[in-house]
Amino acid sequence: MMMKKKKEAAAPLSPTPTPIPGKKQKAPPELLRGFRDILPDEQGRFTAVRDAARAMADAYSFDRIDLPMLERADVFLRPLGKNTDVVEKEMYTFVDPSGDTVSLRPEATASVARAYINHGMLNLPQPVKLWYEGPMFRHDRPQAGRYRQFHQVGFEVIGVPEPIIDAQLIIIASQMLKDLGLDVTIQINSIGTPEARTAYLTELVSYFRPHRAKLSEDDKKRLQKNPLRLLDSKDPAIQELLAGAPQIVDWLDEDSKNHFMKVLEFLDEMQVPYQLNPHLVRGLDYYTHTVFEIWLAGDQGERAQNALGGGGRYDGLVELLGGRPVAGCGFALGVERVAKAMAEQGLTPPLRPHAKVFFAQLGDAARRVGLKVFEEFRKADIHVAEAFGKNALKAQLEAANKMAAAYTLILGQKEVLDGTIIIRDMESGAQEIVDVNKVVSLVKKKLTNAPEIAVPATPVPVQTDIPVEVADEEIPA
Ligand code: AMP
Repeated sequence: MMMKKKKEAAAPLSPTPTPIPGKKQKAPPELLRGFRDILPDEQGRFTAVRDAARAMADAYSFDRIDLPMLERADVFLRPLGKNTDVVEKEMYTFVDPSGDTVSLRPEATASVARAYINHGMLNLPQPVKLWYEGPMFRHDRPQAGRYRQFHQVGFEVIGVPEPIIDAQLIIIASQMLKDLGLDVTIQINSIGTPEARTAYLTELVSYFRPHRAKLSEDDKKRLQKNPLRLLDSKDPAIQELLAGAPQIVDWLDEDSKNHFMKVLEFLDEMQVPYQLNPHLVRGLDYYTHTVFEIWLAGDQGERAQNALGGGGRYDGLVELLGGRPVAGCGFALGVERVAKAMAEQGLTPPLRPHAKVFFAQLGDAARRVGLKVFEEFRKADIHVAEAFGKNALKAQLEAANKMAAAYTLILGQKEVLDGTIIIRDMESGAQEIVDVNKVVSLVKKKLTNAPEIAVPATPVPVQTDIPVEVADEEIPA
């Protein structure tokens, strides 16, 4: 008996599937708030920032370190301080399946100090100079330039207390940004030793106490638990009061004052523009002496949102983590902030080198040879583009033209049989047939002799009227 063939359901033509009655349609997954994809059109700037950091690290002999993104929460709790915004409100902390309380790193300096202790780096020649790059996580309120996952490049120098280290790090940070095309000013302050700070804090609290009623609930808490944070409050009432508040620099001991003066002298010597900012404290418990932030030149208000980076000295950090007392100093730049500043100033470094050569193929035999040709060009460090999705020569030449290729290599069935390949000069339309084994060296010679071609913003019209010596019948249907 003949089975009746079941009618197959027609495949949906549109990318949106037809709703199935009675079945709830799933919405596509969305990104978490404050998290983002960094798409190819932004990658040029991100790569430029990372490359600038790598170049600086090489020039100043910093060694790269990669640190885990997930650490025991203790690595951050004590060094950053229980009463800081980062620890109180912004850490992604949870108990993992093994029962350990862990945190996604909100910053990397504490991890660097942990690594310094764990790997006995105290026994290495000092200072130990390390740099890193990678994502950080803070459950901050998302807004322009503030994300819950963001990236930093950072430099740390551990083992030497000298003020020249502070100055050199500031020079590295500002020079790196200058190399990227940004004009910056350093905001700088000293918060001295923990002892000098204790005396100052008593004074600061007595100054604010009579004004307690004017403070927000958050600031009242700060006054009680971490009064230094009042100095960088954005509340206008506090800002007004700050004008008459005692300034920390007046409470520094002689050693702290001398350290700070020397840092400033070094910066003067190198003509690094800075502004003394008595309200800059940087908020984390581990800082001592010099603290600084890097702002775009001309930026004044909105600073918390705009700072491109920040850093300072942390002579007590290694000890706070259970190591021996060792001096340290460092800074981190926010990659998103730097990339945003670059975009605002129209700085658009290319994502990758522009391919000056295009490979056009006609038929499968040509594709097979083409794969080998590609490899030969790669070995010679010549970037080659293609449009394997297109079969017609005209369409491929149009693509080559759009990419502003200087030369197109054309390989058809005839050329494969003859062991040749056509080199087409995209500007003049002139073509020559050459031995396929010599194509790399010939193109290399042409590219070295050719004047640097500018990549046109709008593609020039393709000259398809110039005859191409490849028979049409070789173009697959
Ligand atoms: P901090 O040590 O907290 O001042 O961070 C150093 C730099 O990292 C800042 O100056 C910013 O450029 C960047 N940064 C900090 N938090 C964020 C965030 N939530 N989103 C984007 N960038 C950030």
